[in-house]
Amino acid sequence: MMQPIRFLDLRKQYESIKTDIDAAIAETLESCQFVGGPAVARFEREFADYQRARHCLGVANGTDAVEIALSALRLPPGSEVIVPANSFIASSEAVTTAGLKVVFCAADSDTSLIDLVDARKRITPQTRAIMPVHLYGQSCDMDAVMAFAHEFELKVMEDCAQAHGAEWNGRRVGTFGDAGTFSFYPGKNLGAYGDGGAIVSNDDTLVRRMRMIANHGRVEKYNHEFEGRNSRLDALQAAILSAKLKHLEGWIAARQAVAAFYSRELSNVKGLQLPLVRDAARHVFHLFVVRTPRRDALQLHLKASGIETGIHYPIALPRLTAYQGLHQSTSSDAVADQLLSLPMGEHLGVADVGRVVHEVRAFFQA
Ligand SMILES: *Cc1c(COP(=O)(O)O)cnc(C)c1O
Repeated sequence: MMQPIRFLDLRKQYESIKTDIDAAIAETLESCQFVGGPAVARFEREFADYQRARHCLGVANGTDAVEIALSALRLPPGSEVIVPANSFIASSEAVTTAGLKVVFCAADSDTSLIDLVDARKRITPQTRAIMPVHLYGQSCDMDAVMAFAHEFELKVMEDCAQAHGAEWNGRRVGTFGDAGTFSFYPGKNLGAYGDGGAIVSNDDTLVRRMRMIANHGRVEKYNHEFEGRNSRLDALQAAILSAKLKHLEGWIAARQAVAAFYSRELSNVKGLQLPLVRDAARHVFHLFVVRTPRRDALQLHLKASGIETGIHYPIALPRLTAYQGLHQSTSSDAVADQLLSLPMGEHLGVADVGRVVHEVRAFFQA
């Protein structure tokens, strides 16, 4: 049997940057500053610069990032937030934990990104915010989202957990709306060696409030202006992220090369729908998600050939048990049964992607 083709290979990545990572960890241990301190401040500055945002606040994980950013908006309790049905549960979960109400809308069938035609049907007098999720690494059409938000006077919370470095018309995600939230979960394009997250924003007042919420409602040590919580990016993760950030553009280029190869070699396969990339989008390909009604059989065929795949996401959010009580559904909920994520990442070699293409073609020709 040939070597398996991994969906994700964190060991291979670590081995390629081991010297940098080990030095960053050793330096943090020597400094004995484990919460806050220079490593966190440095990464916050570097990541704000990378996303071309005025501010960045490190937090404990990407889910907290969404919840803290939403809380900082101080929307009236029970305000409705529109969230696309195709996302990870964190997007909608954070709406609920922030004391707000989730309203699901459909995802566009070509891009899997928020469908504003459907979102329009979900507007009520209680709608106060919309959450474009830059899913799979592609920016939503932020011109359209901002125009929509302006029309209905909505706050815009960008979930950028899968889209570090992604752009719309040359502008980085997270800088269009009120704030943009990121995850550094290990498998993300920029991943920590544990949990981590960040919020970027150009709004000084909002950032000050978010910083306080994430740190017990304080700016100074014991002067708590309100009850907040504890959600901080720790110094070890910040040091690791600074070391990895230097490689991110190279890794994105490698992902884009894999995507270009898949797109070219699989373009004429009947029965297989490839991801659509909008001209204005810089897609960073966190995932390469194809669609086929024969998804389960294709996944089994690839597995038998030693090729790992994933499904993002197998159950549309409104169909999850967690949301049965909401009695909501969208026209795109059934599409979840057709999605398949092919191996994607800088760990893949030319021979690997060649084998994936060969096996996908073989499946559809059989
Ligand atoms: C990963 C992810 C999150 C949550 O991030 P965590 O760091 O795991 O809490 C939120 N939204 C989306 C779209 C994600 O993919």
